[in-house]
Amino acid sequence: MANMYCVKCRAKREDANAQPVTMKNGKPAMKGKCPVCGTAMFRIGKA
Ligand SMILES: [Zn+2]
Repeated sequence: MANMYCVKCRAKREDANAQPVTMKNGKPAMKGKCPVCGTAMFRIGKA
C-alpha cells in the first residue's frame, strides 16, 4: 500500500498495487495508478 498524490484528482490516493521502481539516478520510487481516474501516479521514495 502506498500513499500517493493524484495530480488529476488533486487528492491523495492509496494504491494497493503500487510497484517499487528505481529511478535513473538510482533512488527508490513508487509507481502506481489512481484507483479513481486511472491516471499514473509517481512518488519519490519508498512507501
Ligand atoms: Zn485520480
